[in-house]
Amino acid sequence: MKKFQLMALPYATEALEPVISKETIAFHHGKHLAGYVNNLNGLLEGSPLAGLPLEEIVLKAEGGMLNNAGQILNHELYFGQFSGDPKSAPTGQLAEAIIQDFGSFEVFKEEFQKKGATLFGSGWVWLSADKDGKLVITQEPNAANPILKGLKPLLTFDVWEHAYYLDYQNRRPDHLAALWQIIDWEVIDNRYNKK
Ligand code: MN
Repeated sequence: MKKFQLMALPYATEALEPVISKETIAFHHGKHLAGYVNNLNGLLEGSPLAGLPLEEIVLKAEGGMLNNAGQILNHELYFGQFSGDPKSAPTGQLAEAIIQDFGSFEVFKEEFQKKGATLFGSGWVWLSADKDGKLVITQEPNAANPILKGLKPLLTFDVWEHAYYLDYQNRRPDHLAALWQIIDWEVIDNRYNKK
């Protein structure tokens, strides 16, 4: 059976400093995400879902398999959206949709950060598009991904403590406010524009 592999990071582990430290990236990617990949590969042995693409496993699995597959999908989108030299704002159709649906880029960022800061416990805050391209911010608990609601995920902040505790301890809002500095909007634009 083909095994899922730990994604390669598109930057060096220290590239996102000081927003996210090298140590946090090393643990988050090399231990937490690697653990989800190993768990899923183990759970898929002998399963009828073995061999399916990751998104299909997320849509069809339950229990531990859903949790581990969901966390892999979530983290691939999360780690894939950062850069040490990012494009700092959306452009084109996504920029227009943000203004239409939230009023301004600044209002959108405030609302997104607030949803991340107020999510109780572990989970993820997401910007997604519906089938008509309309934007929505959702709070998803634990390992959930917006594809389970029929949405296309664009941008996410991981609010599990493992994402920030080494660098920010209990100051989750400070961590979330800093993340904007490393979001590469070229990646988010491309996700929005992809058919
Ligand atoms: Mn995480």
